[in-house]
Amino acid sequence: MPKKHGKRHRGQSGAGPAATDAADVSAAAPGNAAERPPSSARWVRAAPDLERHGPDPAATPPIRVAPGIVTVAPGAPFRLADVDPDASEGLDKAWAKEALAAERGRIQALQERLYAEHRRSLLVVLQAIDTGGKDGTIRAVLEGVNPQGCTVSSFKVPSADELDHDFLWRYHARVPRRGMIGVFNRSHYEDVLVVRVKGLVDDAVWRARYGLINDFERLLAASGTTILKFLLHISKNEQRERLEARIADPDKHWKFDPADLVERKSWDAYQAAFQDAMIQCSTSHAPWHVVPANRKWFRNYVIARSIADTLEAMDPRYPEATKGISDLKVPD
Ligand code: AMP
Ligand code: MG
Repeated sequence: MPKKHGKRHRGQSGAGPAATDAADVSAAAPGNAAERPPSSARWVRAAPDLERHGPDPAATPPIRVAPGIVTVAPGAPFRLADVDPDASEGLDKAWAKEALAAERGRIQALQERLYAEHRRSLLVVLQAIDTGGKDGTIRAVLEGVNPQGCTVSSFKVPSADELDHDFLWRYHARVPRRGMIGVFNRSHYEDVLVVRVKGLVDDAVWRARYGLINDFERLLAASGTTILKFLLHISKNEQRERLEARIADPDKHWKFDPADLVERKSWDAYQAAFQDAMIQCSTSHAPWHVVPANRKWFRNYVIARSIADTLEAMDPRYPEATKGISDLKVPD
């Protein structure tokens, strides 16, 4: 019943402990009133204080994902084939489209607070097989978000310059700075996915990357970046239909890459590579989440909902402002 599930979906927001010590900006201000310097100096002092303490690296990351998304438990067995790409929690399409708009509104408001707080960031990693819906998700979920508050980085075949560096170099350069939401359209996981499937490096090289990726993500998490990693999970049949739709519609030809037909032949190898990456790199600081993605409206809603709930759990706060601003007069 859409209503029941709708309730479950609505009812969950704000569940669990929201604010962490790290999120409490006011905690960074000097506690003893007698020691406080004048208000304008306090504003200046607040930033280095936040720099020094940072978020607590041992704290559980404030990640909240929507019902219907499957989180890969760190260290537990996991079979990607057990996740039904058609799942939709019994939700109603029309309801989910309206709910998506509401979630976007929450993201917009919370993003403004994250930006004003200028202390932490959110990294959303999107991985999927070709036609899996990464571009569509970004379009649907980020519509209306202040463009100054988010960055989208799409990673293609590495350039010669990028290949002359360690494999994480190009990704590290694009992680969101404080106050920002960053989206990775493909990511550092390509280096254990397409690179493995196409045999671009020796097995020992890509295998060693799982640990390096975990260390990289731990560094980000300890530096104040909450990481939401989504695999958009579609079925092989759904991919065929999407490829056929691109071939049938001249307006979609620009999107059609004949190489996708070749890659499709490696479907099973990609599924195995996805599954291993989820198992090896689902950690307590950055777990993997599998999104049933055959139904675009379900995918968009649950991802938007997860981003909104996670931002809410991060509980970004406006910084303490200089006292007396409201009494100031603008000179002629
Ligand atoms: P698209 O996202 O469809 O525009 O295509 C980007 C292409 O770049 C895909 O075929 C990816 O497999 C490929 N790609 C992305 N990252 C890497 C990487 N690290 N090594 C090799 N190929 C990559
Ligand atoms: Mg493509």
